Amino acid sequence: MVASAFIEYLDKVTADGEPAPGLYDLSIEFLESIEKASSSAETLLFAYIVRSLRLLGVSPELDCCVSCGKPHPEGGFRQFSVSAGGIICDDCANKEKTDRNALIYKPSFAIIDVFRYFQSKPLKTFEKVTLKSDVADMIRRILAEYTERYLDVDVLSSTGELEA
Ligand SMILES: [Zn+2]
Repeated sequence: MVASAFIEYLDKVTADGEPAPGLYDLSIEFLESIEKASSSAETLLFAYIVRSLRLLGVSPELDCCVSCGKPHPEGGFRQFSVSAGGIICDDCANKEKTDRNALIYKPSFAIIDVFRYFQSKPLKTFEKVTLKSDVADMIRRILAEYTERYLDVDVLSSTGELEA
């Protein structure tokens, strides 16, 4: 399931004949890890996708509010705007929410920490990691919306449906 989502994702984000060495290395890393992964290989896929976003030039803004540039305080901003492309401060989130096309999530956990964790660790870190189901559900939704918006590919909403 996770392997086929991975293959579909890789197929859609790469163009025929165009070398993508960073993505190639990351994909090899993913394939090596998935063999050793426990049942919850989906965490590996999340980490792979988050890491790939930077290589594909569509990394979400995590260092400051994506909208006004305000540095985030201790504890970080709690909201993530798919439509704006990163974490967002409460003021900007409230402004953006007046746009009915805004897509903002306010997870119960620190989404910024999760993204940074995925970005900073080797994929093998996640071979045995099982996320709590509410955390996994939220990350799946955010990444599905995010990749659909910025890469025109969504392989995650289907993995969620099959697990539900
Ligand atoms: Zn702001």
